[in-house]
Amino acid sequence: MRTRDDWAQLVTTIEPRRHAFIDGDFTDAADGEEFTTVNPATGVVLASVARGKAEDVDRAVAAARRVFSSGAWSRAAPSHRKSVLLRLAEKVREHADELALLDTLDGGKLITDTSTVDVPGSAAILQWYAEAIDKQYGEVAPTAPTDLAIVTREPLGVVGAVVPWNYPLEMAVWKLAPALAAGNSVVLKPAEESPLSVLRLAELAAEAGLPDGVLNVVPGYGDEAGQALGRHPDVDAIAFTGSTAVGKLFLRYAGESNMKQVWLECGGKSANLVFADANDLDLVAAKAVVGIFGCSGQVCSANSRLLVEEPVADELLERISARVRDLRVGDPLDPASTMGPLISAQQLDRVLGHVEAARAESTLAFGGNRLHEATGGYYVEPTAFRDVPPTAALSREEVFGPVLAISTFRDEADAVARANASEYGLAASVFTDSLQRARRVAGALHAGTVSVNTVDALDVTTPFGGVKQSGFGRDLSLHAMDKFTWLKTTWFAGPEKG
Ligand code: NAD
Repeated sequence: MRTRDDWAQLVTTIEPRRHAFIDGDFTDAADGEEFTTVNPATGVVLASVARGKAEDVDRAVAAARRVFSSGAWSRAAPSHRKSVLLRLAEKVREHADELALLDTLDGGKLITDTSTVDVPGSAAILQWYAEAIDKQYGEVAPTAPTDLAIVTREPLGVVGAVVPWNYPLEMAVWKLAPALAAGNSVVLKPAEESPLSVLRLAELAAEAGLPDGVLNVVPGYGDEAGQALGRHPDVDAIAFTGSTAVGKLFLRYAGESNMKQVWLECGGKSANLVFADANDLDLVAAKAVVGIFGCSGQVCSANSRLLVEEPVADELLERISARVRDLRVGDPLDPASTMGPLISAQQLDRVLGHVEAARAESTLAFGGNRLHEATGGYYVEPTAFRDVPPTAALSREEVFGPVLAISTFRDEADAVARANASEYGLAASVFTDSLQRARRVAGALHAGTVSVNTVDALDVTTPFGGVKQSGFGRDLSLHAMDKFTWLKTTWFAGPEKG
């Protein structure tokens, strides 16, 4: 296994791409402006990157439209699209160390996660959609036998993908892989905090044989490049992952421009329900810790509300506290670290602000402080509050950091009511040894994914997304590929009667 020094040595071999990738080439922003991206583990600037704005988005959309209309990708044989995306999956694997390091340096993510989850996961998703391309069939409608009506799936055209920083490569691939597989062109705007890995991905895609203009990456700020994409009259659909507030802006952009389709994967305040009949409390504690402190809590489906049946609440908290004492918050390049920094100084302030507010409403169980300030990094302790009232901000608002809200419930009905009392509906977990209870509770929860006796269960084979203000539309699975197509009916009339 590699040590921190091994990874640090590899860092010296990396040359981050820092220009926009438009029509097959790296290019400066039209006005030459740049912005900086910072290493969250040190607070030091990593790279100065092209700051794309409306003019750059225009160039990228024009290239994407031109190649879409040419049919070079959109009407290429499915077997050809498949071979190109399979090559891209292979290239991601060949460059796995580099991509993992870029996400670790740029996003502060643990190298143990980026090298074993994000990058292999991205390659696997690309491969899965590549393999799906030539296994999809159209339909023949059950019309009268004299007629023939066929239903085909057509690519939408130009898809704008706007993604967050918590899984920079993987969130982008969740959008790109099904969109490209379906034959679309894509203009991707990565988060301004973490543009580096997808710039490299775009270059690898070109090397894999993706025609120029099919995948463009325009780095920049949300209210500049992001808004320009959302309002662009020649973009057919937006696939967005990010906050609920910005998701709502994309609905407005679409309504005020060309009524483009909008797919939103937004925030969450996922509940983890633990019933007293869950006998393996050690398993529950282990999962609860991963569910909120994994990725420093910066996960849309983080199990940030732990709702425990009264009789086991104290014992579960003890077991969680014991596990948290074993967490090692530190340098994400060090494989011994089990929790890294938050993404930015701004996010650190936000999270500590939530912690301060929570002190007035609930009882601190552990944590609550900034760590390793001398490193310049944005570290915070794993933190939990107990006896958090349902009305408290910590029960309602997404923190997007390592802060757990614990409260108790009396019975099943109380548990379900509390879990559903949220404006979000992305995910939920249920721990119980009763199959009947698991089915009843899972059926009653308003959440896109309900994990039973685990947390955050997901796979490329299963749709992922929310209800209520967690958004709509699904990533992953064949449903995601469907969402990047429209249904066309072609009717061949039979012989005229009489
Ligand atoms: P964010 O909404 O601030 O930013 C997401 C993207 O939107 C970024 O690329 C950003 O530049 C862009 N953006 C920001 N303001 C914009 C504007 N005015 N117009 C157009 N684009 C704009 O979110 P974030 O802080 O990067 O990520 C955290 C949020 O993402 C959390 O709320 C989290 O729950 C959510 N998230 C959801 C999922 C999911 O699948 N449901 C996954 C990861 C993150």
